[in-house]
Amino acid sequence: MLTTGGMARLLDLHPDDFARELAAHGGRAALFWDHAAARMVASAAWLEPIAAWMSADDRDVHRHEAVFLAIGPSTGALFAAFLHSTVRGQGAGGLRHWPYPRLEAFLRDGLRLALGMSRKNALAGLWWGGGKGIVARQGDAPWREPEYRRTLYREYGAFTTSLRGAYVTAEDAGTGPRDMAAVYETTRFVTCVPPEIGGSGNPSQPTAKGVVCAMEAALDHLGLGTLAGKTIAMQGAGNVAGYMIDELALRGCARIVATEISAERCAELRARHAGTVVEIRHVDAADRTIFAEPCDIFAPNALGGVLEPDTIAMLRAKIVCGAANNQLLDDRRDDRLLAERGILYVPDFVANRMGIVSCANEQYGSLPEDPAIERHFGRSWDNSVYAITTRVLERAAGEGITTSAAANALADEACAVPHPIWGHRSRDILDALLRDGFGRDPHDGAR
Ligand code: NAD
Repeated sequence: MLTTGGMARLLDLHPDDFARELAAHGGRAALFWDHAAARMVASAAWLEPIAAWMSADDRDVHRHEAVFLAIGPSTGALFAAFLHSTVRGQGAGGLRHWPYPRLEAFLRDGLRLALGMSRKNALAGLWWGGGKGIVARQGDAPWREPEYRRTLYREYGAFTTSLRGAYVTAEDAGTGPRDMAAVYETTRFVTCVPPEIGGSGNPSQPTAKGVVCAMEAALDHLGLGTLAGKTIAMQGAGNVAGYMIDELALRGCARIVATEISAERCAELRARHAGTVVEIRHVDAADRTIFAEPCDIFAPNALGGVLEPDTIAMLRAKIVCGAANNQLLDDRRDDRLLAERGILYVPDFVANRMGIVSCANEQYGSLPEDPAIERHFGRSWDNSVYAITTRVLERAAGEGITTSAAANALADEACAVPHPIWGHRSRDILDALLRDGFGRDPHDGAR
């Protein structure tokens, strides 16, 4: 809640205007969790209203270890790295390049996504903490132009380097492997780089296979048998959904229906699946008919925030399990609404973890049909997607809680386990950064 004029003013600023303020205060800032005071504090006095706003929010902030802000030296774009938890290792999570109307939306998105990454990484068994990067898309910048993008991502890479390895970035909405290659020019702390420079490339296929394993676990949990003969409806037929359709067709699904807003993509998939059980429907972005499609499993594979009271009321599925991040518009309301309608919801971060798993594993080298990836798709490893999904669903059923609450509880338990070799080293890195004056305002004097 906004209680002071200063807080309201800063949070209401457009990120481009906030970037100019930041430039006037030395160009860098940090907000971090003060263990002794049990609140967020700022590296400089002018940001205290934002620290107060974060401290008052127990929902998205959820005790972030640190948030770092900076501006691109030549682009002037606003950069952020959100580090929710580094107990299990360096905070890892993708870099989003997105437009935001106000600073509050920019910060809230990063805080929420970084918290989600802590949970996703921990529940995937990775020795990584949770983080997220954001570049605010500038109102007047040629953000599609390769030259601008290369400059921007080289700048973001340098910002990442300045965090001394506490944050490891990757691709996310609005960024791709080519952008990560530019980030890689100025930092080693990046994953999801192209295979030509030693990366794992597009993670969409493993992500799709992981979601299908989660679907199988959900069907088994309900005693509904295999995917053979089932009907799957999906919103979005992009990268992940394209591979998912292939996997589902291989497993003998009776019908696969997908809506897609890109006419080009529809034509491509129709050509690939002509005369099969696959139906691709071209729709406009506001179309919601897919939510009312009678099916066994509904897979949100386009955008987040699509499950809300109206769409949940439309669903004619037994299970919701898809690739999109943050599918619930309100994560404390919509999981309950799904449960009340008797629909089994597989939390997104349980089903879609394989993207970050393939990126996170890059640093350990690669093998053909990599066992470190393949074991996630089996049933014998107790940390496979199937096994973890089953554990989440059983815990929810056993404790009479929603599947989201069960997944969060399991993930939060895992988040509390420190890295077996490095311990909570990134906390020491963050402390050293702050001691060395990251984000200190030159006008503040000694703080
Ligand atoms: P993508 O952009 O390739 O696919 C999304 C598709 O949805 C696009 O083809 C787009 O045209 C379509 N779309 C957008 N709005 C729509 C609407 N209203 N109705 C129908 N179609 C619509 O992205 P992707 O890589 O396939 O990822 C899909 C989702 O999964 C995203 O939310 C992403 O964040 C999430 N995710 C992806 C990965 C991965 O490995 N790629 C990993 C984890 C999570």
